[in-house]
Amino acid sequence: MKTNTVYIADDNDTDRTILESALRKLGFEVVSFTTGDAICDAIRKADRPVIALVDWLMPGRNGVDICRELSANPPSSPVYSIIVTSRTDKTDIAFALDNGADDFVTKPFNIVELRARIHVGIRLLASRQQLFDSNGRLLEHTKNVEQLAATRAEQLVRADRLSTIGILSAGMAHEINNPTSFIAINIQTLEENLQTVSTALDYGATVEQKQEAGLFMAAVPEILGEMKNGIARIRSIVNGLKSYSHLTQEKHGYFAIDDCMETALHLCANRLKYHVTVEKMLGETPQVFGDQFQIEQVLVNIFTNAADAIEESGRDGVLTLSTECANGKVIAQIHDTGRGIPAAALEKVFMPFYTTKAIGKGTGLGLSISRTIITDHKGELLVENHAEGGALFTIILPSKHKAAI
Ligand code: ADP
Repeated sequence: MKTNTVYIADDNDTDRTILESALRKLGFEVVSFTTGDAICDAIRKADRPVIALVDWLMPGRNGVDICRELSANPPSSPVYSIIVTSRTDKTDIAFALDNGADDFVTKPFNIVELRARIHVGIRLLASRQQLFDSNGRLLEHTKNVEQLAATRAEQLVRADRLSTIGILSAGMAHEINNPTSFIAINIQTLEENLQTVSTALDYGATVEQKQEAGLFMAAVPEILGEMKNGIARIRSIVNGLKSYSHLTQEKHGYFAIDDCMETALHLCANRLKYHVTVEKMLGETPQVFGDQFQIEQVLVNIFTNAADAIEESGRDGVLTLSTECANGKVIAQIHDTGRGIPAAALEKVFMPFYTTKAIGKGTGLGLSISRTIITDHKGELLVENHAEGGALFTIILPSKHKAAI
């Protein structure tokens, strides 16, 4: 309906006809109803703002009931309700307004006043509609912004994982190179000695030739064993990297933080093996709930930072990992004997882009993302300097807590 259409409800035929003709004379389109239920249904179905003139006294749902219901449970399109009444007592009028009526007109009508009151309603409805529309747009906008923020956060977590892979992969390439070299040497040994074996198999082979072939054959199981170990080592490095880099994969469920510690150590093995002794005091803690890959990502960040801090201290160091359970929480602590964190920087380390590392070595995102991951798991990530020097990171997670992540 257009806003110059007026809905009226009156059970009295004479009164309704008078009102209809007065409104038509004033230039309004009129839709009439004889009961409160009928006008309420029509208002709820309307797809535009509605001016409703409702008689106070009607059998069934009366005018005040209608106003009360519409204000308690507003329809999808705004409505401006005017009570029509022959009551002139101020207390009655206040009662109608208090119960949700927007305005009132008293019978017999003054035509000029009626038109003026309807126009007030039309003006108010226009601004209510505007408010309604902008509210809708605002809600839509908020939803888009929230979606965008969630996507960006996800992208950051992935970017951080990619950057860690970049940092770790240099060391891993070295790790893969070692077994590859001795596999190559062993293959060469096997090739060179194949001739010895085939000569020994000849009909006229001498005793020495047979002995030489026998010695070689005795060494073959060891050579093959070494090669198998080398291949297993390469496979485990590649698998670790593959699962860590599986950016879209999620692994929601119950898991032990002690296992995450082991996986993260494995991934960082090359960063730690030259200057760092790892001491583990893992307490077989109860399981936690969440995304195991993300918790591993947090630990990889903390371990690589520890390796950097120990290197920066100029001395070999110790990385102590401990886990325990207290008051229904799983607590994991990571202490390194590195250079420590200046007191003024203790809270800054969690700020995005805060880094003291050279360009290309640090992004300043690791700890900020790590804290977000732990917070999303309903936990806490804290840092302090250890009394004996170096940094101490503490991860607190609810044990077996099925959080909505
Ligand atoms: P990035 O490692 O890329 O710099 P992070 O957010 O992981 O980013 O770390 C931010 C900063 O926090 C580091 O640059 C470093 O100055 C400091 N930091 C983190 N861990 C340690 C630590 N174990 N010891 C000393 N400083 C640390």
